[in-house]
Amino acid sequence: MTPVCNPVLETETIKYSVQPGCAFLDPGYYPGTKQAHSGIDLNDVRGGDSDLGNRVRAVADGVVVAAGTFPKWGGIVLIHHPALGVWTQYGHVYGITVQVGQTVRMGDIVGQIGKMEGGKGWAHLHFEVRRSLLPPDFWASNRYNTRRQATDYIREHYHDPEDWLAEHGALRTLAEVEAARGGRRGGGVVVDQPRRAVPLNWYQLHDEAMQPLEGEWVSVVENTRTGEKRVVKISPRKLKDKGLIA
Ligand SMILES: [Zn+2]
Repeated sequence: MTPVCNPVLETETIKYSVQPGCAFLDPGYYPGTKQAHSGIDLNDVRGGDSDLGNRVRAVADGVVVAAGTFPKWGGIVLIHHPALGVWTQYGHVYGITVQVGQTVRMGDIVGQIGKMEGGKGWAHLHFEVRRSLLPPDFWASNRYNTRRQATDYIREHYHDPEDWLAEHGALRTLAEVEAARGGRRGGGVVVDQPRRAVPLNWYQLHDEAMQPLEGEWVSVVENTRTGEKRVVKISPRKLKDKGLIA
């Protein structure tokens, strides 16, 4: 079984919960509007900005397919988990420490809890588990005119993150993650300080990207600032070596 952890980890003093009204497809999410919530908003139980800057972690081994800043969202990291058949999205993060094409292990730090673009609202982590490859900043309610239509689309293309984490026995605490990684090759102590932040704006261009293509997994990415395009290739051998595919 592929080990999975929560995207934010609890310690003796830090506990998290899903913000009221901000669960998956929560009817209390901006009621009366067309907005349907495709993820969960995780927040330190102390509320406010108490979790600003806390570490955000990859929930499982995977490959980073997008890392950058996007209008309204702020920072987004999108990770493909081939062994689990899902993509996880981490929204409103800053201090992103991963690059497109990089492999990550369960529990690796990918960034820090931040805010929406322009510093709006309280800090929180918006976390999604997607069944389909979608643009990093995809928001169903921008495509559909009614909440019902957006909800139908989200049910088809997303998992309820709380259910998905529970089904996979997601580890909740830093101590559990450290113990789980301790015995694994390349495991050991989980670094609890972000590595040098990489200010990236690379994002994936095409829905068909990250598919096996002539023996390699290919992702076409574009720099949102300069418009430069780059092809990221990941060989099956690398994925196998990293234990991401059988
Ligand atoms: Zn959210």
